Amino acid sequence: MNKTTNSSIPNSFNRRKWLQSVFLSAMGFSRLPSTLAGEEVESVEKQTLSYFRTRGVVADVYGLETLDWPQRARDAGLTTIGAHVTPSQVARFIQSEAGQTFLANCKNHNIQVEHELHAMSDLLPREYYIKDKTMFRMTKDGERTADYNCCVHSKPAVEIICENAVQYAAILPSTTGRYFYWIDDGMPMCYCPQCRIYSDSDQALILENHILSALKTRIPYASLAHLAYLNTIMPPQQVKPENGIFLEFAPIRRTWDHPLQNRDARKDDQSPTHGQILDCLDANLEYFGREHAQVLEYWTDVSLFSHWKKPAKRLPWTEEVFLSDLQTYGKRGVRHITSFVVYIDADYIRQYGEPPLDRYGRGLLNYHFKTM
Ligand SMILES: [Zn+2]
Repeated sequence: MNKTTNSSIPNSFNRRKWLQSVFLSAMGFSRLPSTLAGEEVESVEKQTLSYFRTRGVVADVYGLETLDWPQRARDAGLTTIGAHVTPSQVARFIQSEAGQTFLANCKNHNIQVEHELHAMSDLLPREYYIKDKTMFRMTKDGERTADYNCCVHSKPAVEIICENAVQYAAILPSTTGRYFYWIDDGMPMCYCPQCRIYSDSDQALILENHILSALKTRIPYASLAHLAYLNTIMPPQQVKPENGIFLEFAPIRRTWDHPLQNRDARKDDQSPTHGQILDCLDANLEYFGREHAQVLEYWTDVSLFSHWKKPAKRLPWTEEVFLSDLQTYGKRGVRHITSFVVYIDADYIRQYGEPPLDRYGRGLLNYHFKTM
């Protein structure tokens, strides 16, 4: 684990010069390129010294349309904004004037743009059901249905999905090369004779391996998330991730009243304990590796605390839980952290004022690993 703490900075050195030398040697430069100066150097210094490489928020389109998220992200010391929810929805936004302004502002503020997408219904349009039912999933009762997802052993389905993933990537490029095409939100996978021997996590990974391979034909440096969440929270057992698949872990069934490290805590009687959730995280980190692993959290997700129904409720914010959770993730080697900010939009600000985005950003930026 590469720990960078303030205590490792020699006092006798001029801080700025030292920071620059760390960055320059890491980048293979002997002196500062003339194009990097002032604020850019400041930004580079922060990114170089922060343990968390991705410090992000994932926002819905209405939030992106009604608030200046690039400015907010910059002010909070964040690195990345992920647009959410579906490819068609986000594509419409990005192609609009507001979307183009958003991209320009992100560029001006040096904020990375990713797209975190529940994608299957867009990647395999449901109309294909009339043409070829076998592209779609089989229920446990043996019926083909176009409700969610697909049959991952259908060659024509996988071809269409891959083609559309590449097309959407052209409209929605990721400035980090990290792509996020998730299965339909928590929805079941296929029970056909070929698929049923695989878990939902294995089926998702079969598909992700195909999508990544297609993306790489156009974007050689592309990588793709495997989302561990609800029905895919357990690691796959049979399918191995291709090089470029990284873990994205979203612990939606936890409670935010207690830190994750409280292993006995749980949301309610129907929910897993934090101990069980952490065991899933550890098993997934073993399976997919830690280096590029990302956590998608809900500390700032107004939609979750509003039960995904407007009017939005005020965000509960428990700083101790958040800071403890950063330790939980950081000590496991997770260096990419994002949190939903869905429902934080102009309406929310009018009603409740500013959410604690500065606390979120500061916590991430100032994190250093503590020996527990
Ligand atoms: Zn199938």
